[in-house]
Formats: sequence, structure tokens, C-alpha cells
Amino acid sequence: MMSISSLVLKAPLSGPLMPLEHVPDPVFAQKMVGDGISIDPVNECLVAPCDGKIIQLHRAFHAITIEADNGLEIMIHIGIDTVSLEGAGFSPKVAVGDQVCCGDPLIEFDADFIATKAKSLLTQIIVLNSDKVTEFQYQSGFATSTQDPVLMLSCESSQETREHHHHETVRSDDIAVPNPTGLHARPTAVLVAEAKKFDAVIHLYKGGDQANAKSLVSIMSLEVNCGDHVNLTAAGSDAQRAIETLAPLIAGGLGENCPEISAPEKQEAQASQEQDEDIPLSTDPKVILGVSASPGLAIGRIFQLKRDEINVEEHADNIDQQLTVLQDALKNASKQLQHLQTKVEDEEKAAIFEAHQALLDDPELLDNTKNMIADGKSAAFAWKTAYQLQASLLAKLKNELLAARANDLRDVGRRVLQSILGLDADDTEVPDNTILVAQDLTPSDTANLDRKKVLGFCTMTGGASSHVAILARSMNIPAVAGIEARALQIENGTPVILDAGRAVLKVAPPEEEIERVRQAQNIASIKQQQDLSNAHLAATTADGHNLEIAANIGDLKDAQESVRLGGEGVGLLRSEFLFMNRASAPSEEEQFEVYRDVAKVLRDHQRLIIRTLDVGGDKPLPYLPIDAEENPFLGLRGIRVMLHKTSVFRTQLRAILRASEFGNVHIMFPMVTTIEDLRAAKKIVEEEREKLGVKAVPVGIMVEVPTTAILAEQFAPEVDFFSIGTNDLTQYTLAIDRGHPTLAAQADGLNPAVLKLIGNTIAGAHKHNKWAGVCGGIASDPAAVPILLGMGIDELSVSVPSIPSIKAQIRELTLEDCKILASQALQQNSAAAVRELTDNN
Ligand code: PEP
Ligand code: MG
Repeated sequence: MMSISSLVLKAPLSGPLMPLEHVPDPVFAQKMVGDGISIDPVNECLVAPCDGKIIQLHRAFHAITIEADNGLEIMIHIGIDTVSLEGAGFSPKVAVGDQVCCGDPLIEFDADFIATKAKSLLTQIIVLNSDKVTEFQYQSGFATSTQDPVLMLSCESSQETREHHHHETVRSDDIAVPNPTGLHARPTAVLVAEAKKFDAVIHLYKGGDQANAKSLVSIMSLEVNCGDHVNLTAAGSDAQRAIETLAPLIAGGLGENCPEISAPEKQEAQASQEQDEDIPLSTDPKVILGVSASPGLAIGRIFQLKRDEINVEEHADNIDQQLTVLQDALKNASKQLQHLQTKVEDEEKAAIFEAHQALLDDPELLDNTKNMIADGKSAAFAWKTAYQLQASLLAKLKNELLAARANDLRDVGRRVLQSILGLDADDTEVPDNTILVAQDLTPSDTANLDRKKVLGFCTMTGGASSHVAILARSMNIPAVAGIEARALQIENGTPVILDAGRAVLKVAPPEEEIERVRQAQNIASIKQQQDLSNAHLAATTADGHNLEIAANIGDLKDAQESVRLGGEGVGLLRSEFLFMNRASAPSEEEQFEVYRDVAKVLRDHQRLIIRTLDVGGDKPLPYLPIDAEENPFLGLRGIRVMLHKTSVFRTQLRAILRASEFGNVHIMFPMVTTIEDLRAAKKIVEEEREKLGVKAVPVGIMVEVPTTAILAEQFAPEVDFFSIGTNDLTQYTLAIDRGHPTLAAQADGLNPAVLKLIGNTIAGAHKHNKWAGVCGGIASDPAAVPILLGMGIDELSVSVPSIPSIKAQIRELTLEDCKILASQALQQNSAAAVRELTDNN
């Protein structure tokens, strides 16, 4: 039975009200803790906003939670970052368990003292179990303590909800959290999923702090570290079972491998809490790990780049003046960016700063800033709050590309902030032979690096697809992102080896090791030079078998580079790059021009295989909405999307067909799983071709799912070629999400099961006199090349920089040896065993 109940919360303090979104702390502004409102206090006694029972009082006395009579839990949090005051300036008037009436004093505080020590006095009134509220009515303007309402809440109270209050609360014993990096996103997600299986209201406690155990963000904001003691409470019909299930799960590490950790290791684990999720941790104190952002080896000495936090005044009187300050700073930053844009010679780098210009006009950023200025905040405070909030929102997005843009926003944000405050832009002199270490680097920092002095860099934040990584690759500077936090503790001047390809920083290595690496560097550089000078020789084995080496490209620039490096055509043009990072689909004309220009760059008869748009639930485009899916990798992806959005498909096909007049253009469909889909797609190609009156072009498919590989023999008569996408084929064969933070490393395309599917695809193609290539990542893997060759592959489409080395490697092989190796590889029982086999050959 449902009934509607309502609760009016009266002002617990006097002062102007402010939407939660404007609070300069993402935890509140993004409603991670729950929905509510904020008040800027003008008095110093916090009173109860409603009748209820005190269920939590933080040990630092800055936050208190009342359970209202209808079960809603109202938390009031005085100030921002006030927990660090450890109780100084606060005196509580109640204790946990007390029953209070609306208007009863809860906490008195010294506003002057707190205002000088903490970031802000803004006080948040938040409903922790916001999911129980069906409607929030937020008040605005000035509210007087105990008199004016601040929030009006309606909630559906089901029989079940009310019943919770008749159940005893069950509490677990203390549990020591064993996870080396505490309750970060992954184990927390496991806990939340398990907690949601119970009807009981479940809370996780750390000290006096409490989180809703069914909310990821709520638990994460508890910041539970390795070794912290937590406990659970549950109230409801299945409370006992919930505690009995969840407590051992937490104690057991929530599915994470949690070694017994000693005290120093625990400290280290805690030190790394602040860094990004999912960073590997090394157990060797002299080996620090991260993820590869730009490959290469460098030997140098550490230089720590530290950026000081820019402090700002919160309040300002003159709104108009603050708006003018903001406008001037934006103009000034825009001029600086124009200057940077002209300073960098490379088009790709210039485009990054062009994108920064666009951020200066971002309407949401500007609106948020102006709203805060209108609320009496200084331009500096308002801008800093707005851009940091937006950047942290971006950083949390699942889409890696969008998340990587957070750093760009911080870069532009800091630039404008410096301009508002009249500070000089950052400029640091670095010594010779520097391996730079920084919490993070902005694209501006990176573009401005003195390449003669900086031999490589490591950042604690960022990933392989950030703009910083793209810049590093284009500058050919070795770089590791997401490095363990302890890299920030290495003393300046310490000698190190940065092996960015393997994402390893070796601290103070012995002189012999430095010497060995130096020699390896010399040999690698001589080999690279040799491969480059022979790049235009064919990839023909010592016993006369020729293999075609094509390139995987994303744009015209890649095509030009692939020709320079000896590429023999394009085996995969990932056309989705044309469609990403924009508000609407590219027009037929725009696409035609790109495809035509790429076709013209290639030599006569070199194939240009254009893959039709390969997007889906995992890579959404704003103008191609696809309903959210539980399992996007198993939903609308690749050709399935195009068969649903036929107008986008037809436009692209027309552009490709028109471009086919300028070269040896082939069409390739991604993620084909059924003959029916293949036929439907081919029919559309034929319809558009007839309308345009152009010649037919070869049509092939990517083999990326086991079903297609298994039925290759049946697919082969209906296509002109196969190109095996081993990145997806591996994920679908091994049931490992290719982007999975911990499992992805096991998704090795050299797994014999994947090799067997590749073999089956090649056999199916050859039976019908069609060719088969590989365009997935293993085509560029030197360990895989001899096996693929031995299995009879006709073409490898590889990453552009690896063209010369793969061609050189093939010239050293013989087909006969490769056949033996391939047949041995197929007999192995794991990818590791296959790799061992290739290592020994
Ligand atoms: C693949 O899946 O192997 C492939 C080449 O396609 P993408 O990596 O673009 O999904
Ligand atoms: Mg794929």
C-alpha cells in the first residue's frame, strides 16, 4: 500500500539559500551524498530542521544526521572541508540517540574562526536517502532560522518502508578493509550490487561517517582506505541475512585479490589512494608502474614539477565589476591561446588549443560562473569553482575520450584564473636530461616542454587517450600516465630509467643497467634507422612468400604517414573518427572529400578499405541516440546500428561510392554477426550505387565475433574479403571486456582459441578464393606475426609506426618455419604458452 507523506524542513540557520549545484565541492554539487540545498549562514547556532532522532554526529562535529519521523535521513554539513578542523570551532549540543524537535539547538560554531580556516561556510542540508523522495521543492532567497522552510519533500511511504522502523537494526562487527587501495570504484560497485539484492535499508559506517550501502558515490565519499575499520547496519525484514552476507564479503576483499599486507605496504597503499583508479602497483620499491602514454626509452634524472594551488577570495561586493574582470580574463586567455596555436607548427597540436578556445565559450561554464557572481562571489572564486566542478564531472565519465577532456578544462581554467588574478602564466625552468614527474600536466605544459631538456615524463593522472598522451606521441617523447603516487616522492636529481613502452620507471638503477639500456637504445635506434631505410622493400619472406602490409588509419595525416613508412595500402580506415567529437554527423560532401583525399594519397591500386561507421552503446554519438543498454557490447553495435539508422548509413555509403572513382576503394562492414544483416547491408549499398550510377566496389566484412569466424565458410561466398578484428574477436571469445580495468590484460589475441577461429576464417575464405587479413592489434605484435603468416594470412593491417619493423621482421622469416610454429601454437593451452613458444623461436 502506498501513501504520500510530506516533510517540511525549516531553515537550520539564517542566511541566503543556494542551489546545491553551486556549492564549490563536487561531492555536494554532483549530489553524490544526496539531494538538498545549501545555506550561507549569518548566525552561529545550527538547529534541527524537523522533529526526529539524531542518528549520526561526526567526530569532528561539523556534520550531523537526523532521522525524521517518516524515515527520511537529513544530514546537515557545516562548511566545506571543515572535517580537517577536527572539531575546533564546533560545540555539539546533542548526542547520537537524542530525540529532537524542530528548532532545538544541535551544534554551535565559531563562524569567524571557521571562515578563516576552511574553504567556505556554506552549509548543506541533504536528504541521504533521496531515493525515497518523489518531489523536492527547493526554496530560494533569504531564510530565517526555524521560521522559513528551505525544502519541501514529498515521499511515497509504502507499507514496507514504514515497516523498516518496526525492525530492529542489525549491526555487524568491525571489519578491517583488506583492499590495497581501499574501497575504490571496483570493490564498491560489487558491494552496491550485493546490497541492492536486499530490501533492508543498509548503511556502511566508518567512524562517525555513514554512507548508503546501495549508493556507489555515497560509499566512495566515505574514503575508506586499506586497513580502515568499517561496520554495517541493516534495518528491514531481511536485515540479518544482509549483514551475514555483506560483512564477510567486505572482509574478503569484495572480489579483489587482497594479500596480507604489512604496515609499510599499507602506508604505501594509502598514499596511493588519491591517484586514479585501476593503476597497477609494484611491490619493488625501485620499480614504479603506470600505463604507457607514449612509448620509448629514456635515461635521465628526476625533476618534480609542482603546481601551487591558487587561493582565491570567496566574496566580492561589486557584481558588475566582477563580471567585467571575468570578461577581460576570458579575452586575455583567448589571446594567449591564439598565440600558442600559431606557435606550434603541428596541425594536430594546434587543434588542441583551438578546442581550448571553444571551452572559453562553454555556456554552462559561463552560466554557472555568472550565477555565482550574482550570488556575491568573486569572479575568481566563481570561475575556479565552476571549472573545477565541470572538470571533475567530466573526469568521472565512463567514456574515456570525454573523461580525458577534464585535463583540458583544468588547463584553460587555470589560464583564465591566472588572468583574473593578474598572475603570470606557469613557466618553470627545467635542468638538462630531465625525466619530469608531475601530479598532472596540462596540454599547455606539454606543448611548452623543452624537448632538448625533457627526455620523458610521468604523470599521476591521465591515460593513453588524453590530449597529453596524443601530444607526447606526436612529439615522440616517452611518457607514462597514471603512475603510482610514490613517484611524486622521488628526490630531484635521482637517476632513473623510463621504459615508457612497458610503463615502468626504474629508480636509481645500478650503473651496469644504465649502460645496458644505453646500448639497447643504440641498437634499437640503429635498427629503427635500418628498418626505415628499407621500409619500401616488400614484406617477402626469405623463401619468397609475399605478405601485404597495410595500415590502420583514422585520417588523411595517418594515410600520408603510412605511405612515407612503406605502407602498402589501407587495411582499415576507422571512419568513426570523422564522426566523433562533434555535434552533428559529417555531411556527405565532407565525408566524400576526406575519403577522396585519402584515396588520392595512396599509390595506384593500393587498396583503401573504408569501414562503415562502427559505433554503438559503448561509443555513443550525441546526434545518434541509442537507448542505454545493460550490455552495450552485446547490443546495438557496428552494422546493427547502421541498419537501424539507415539515413546515416546511406549518406556514408554515397560518400564512399563517390570517392571510389578516385582509387581502389573497398567497403567493409563492422561487427557482422548474421548473413541476414550482411545481405541487408549489401542491398543498401547496391541501391545507392545504382542511384549514383558508379561501378561496383568490393565489399567485405570484419570478422570480430566467434559466430562469424565459425561460419566463415558460409559467409565467404557472399563477400569479397574478410578482415579479422582480433580486438573484438578476443573479447567475445574470452568473455573479457576489452576495456576491463583488470581483466583486459588477459584478453590476449594469442590465446589458442582465438588462433583457431582465425585459422577457421582463413580456411573459409581460401575455400572460396577470397582473401583474409588481420586488422586487429595482434597484426602489429611481433610475437603474433610469424604465427599468422604460418596460418596462411594474406594481409596484415598494422598501426602506422610499426609498418617498417613488421616488414623487416617478415623479411627475416621463412614460411616453412612459420607453418611449423603455427601448428605448434594451435596445440598450446594458453596465450602464455604460445608466447613462450614464440620467444624461443
Ligand atoms: C578489432 O576489433 O580488432 C578492430 C580492428 O576494430 P576496433 O578496434 O576499431 O573495434
Ligand atoms: Mg572491432
